[in-house]
Amino acid sequence: MSETKSPAVGRGTDLPASWGMGEGQAIPWEYAPAPESREIVTLRARYGLFVGGKEVAPRSGQWFTTIDPSTEEPLAEIARAGEADVDHAVGVARRAFKRSWGELPGAERAKYLFRIARILQERSREFAVLETLNGGKPIKESRDVDVPLAAAHFWYYAGWADKLDHAFPGRRALPLGVAAQIIPWNFPLLMLAWKIAPALAAGNTVVLKPASSTPLTALLFADVCAQAELPPGVVNIVTGPGEIGMALVRHPGIDKVAFTGSTAVGRLIGRAVAGTDKGLTLELGGKAANIVFDDAPLDQAIEGVVNGIFFNQGEVCCAGSRLLVQESIAEPFIAKLKDRLATLRVGDPLDKNTDVGAINNAAQLAKIEELVQVGIAEGAEIYQPPCALPAKGFFFRPTLFTGVAQSHRIAQEEIFGPVLSVLTFRTPEEAVEKANNTPYGLSAGVWTEKGSRILAMVKRMRAGVVWANTFNRFDPTSPFGGYKESGFGREGGMHGLYPYVRQEDR
Ligand code: NDP
Repeated sequence: MSETKSPAVGRGTDLPASWGMGEGQAIPWEYAPAPESREIVTLRARYGLFVGGKEVAPRSGQWFTTIDPSTEEPLAEIARAGEADVDHAVGVARRAFKRSWGELPGAERAKYLFRIARILQERSREFAVLETLNGGKPIKESRDVDVPLAAAHFWYYAGWADKLDHAFPGRRALPLGVAAQIIPWNFPLLMLAWKIAPALAAGNTVVLKPASSTPLTALLFADVCAQAELPPGVVNIVTGPGEIGMALVRHPGIDKVAFTGSTAVGRLIGRAVAGTDKGLTLELGGKAANIVFDDAPLDQAIEGVVNGIFFNQGEVCCAGSRLLVQESIAEPFIAKLKDRLATLRVGDPLDKNTDVGAINNAAQLAKIEELVQVGIAEGAEIYQPPCALPAKGFFFRPTLFTGVAQSHRIAQEEIFGPVLSVLTFRTPEEAVEKANNTPYGLSAGVWTEKGSRILAMVKRMRAGVVWANTFNRFDPTSPFGGYKESGFGREGGMHGLYPYVRQEDR
């Protein structure tokens, strides 16, 4: 892990790791490698579609290769579904809805969801290693965040399955039918859990399309469904490109569409669903402001800012990608932040010491590189800590831009990478105005000692989630979703059940 693939953007050569600490200098010691073994994962050469409770070859007869983004090595061949496969999967899901799942009492559905949760916990290491292999995220995150939270969503919604009368008092909550669920590559297993758990708890069946770059944990989840003896056809997984997602959205046998991904594709899906009676929830991009006031606990805020933007390489829809720091503390705060950035360990995602892993795919890396160049061209000042990047794989240095104006593209557009844009403010009013000045409205963070200020800020910020003195905290009981171009509908909590039921008077 010592060779540098691409020169640091906007800086000279890397400093040797043996140099002393201080701004712009690397940590003065080397961490010994602590690689997690990949042996727990048994990869097959080929993975078919999961339809009707079993693996089936694609009717299209086509396959594609999925890779490890940290080495660019192929991992397996994956079925590339065609329209006939989508049609088959939707038909199977509809039959399962009519014949078994839709009629099953809630307490029976709950048993299956509890079983799935338990199996996910039992097989957590296998899932964590596979998620990291296929997605590039650090093993400590897939192990400590993605997999436990995915299991927690199944536990949580299992609890609601037989209590829908309490979630909707005085009403009858009926399932909608078949849900088409399209998920992205940044949290493949967790997004699967966010989508499948509430849908099944409410009595729907699903056809899920994972992102093409990260199909493997969804296909391992198919194995969990079989192990839990879930009735065939309740969960179906079709792999293939975006157009297959669109074929699923347009299919007349679909009752509800749930999508997480880019705002551009969200718009296309919105148009395709308009004028039909299909339900729709969209969880799209974001450009969150992380606001640090001068009375904030600064060391804690530094950690929150670092977690806010470098968690999952910044490939997070709610990432705190705009730091708004009060002018009076901007200088010392940015100096501290630079020091902290120099201690981030970038490299092999399977190493338990790694803080920043691989970017998920080549196209995403190219997008990050392009927007960083735009930031430089627009006049912002770039800082990247000295760190050696692996010779192969899709890696990008943690990056900080200061001197950013609100009009800069790096202050407006979702970069979806480890790149933080720093702006300053003087008054709370200015902070609110700047925080809200984006087309998005997914999340925000506020760092201050004053409880009254937190409440005042939260009320005025157009963001679905506002974290106070913390960032990127998730819990299955807590609803999540956006305003404006960040989409609509909520996932998580009791609110996460609403999009999957039709309510009737008792
Ligand atoms: P997309 O929105 O293209 O992908 C998300 C999912 O939608 C994937 O399963 C994808 O399939 C599928 N999809 C793609 N095109 C269509 C379509 N026309 N109809 C139906 N489904 C479709 O995101 P990208 O991977 O292209 O990432 C681009 C940008 O989107 C990122 O840089 C980031 O800014 C944002 N993004 C936001 C996410 C979030 O959590 N809000 C997550 C991921 C990306 P396939 O993978 O096969 O193309």
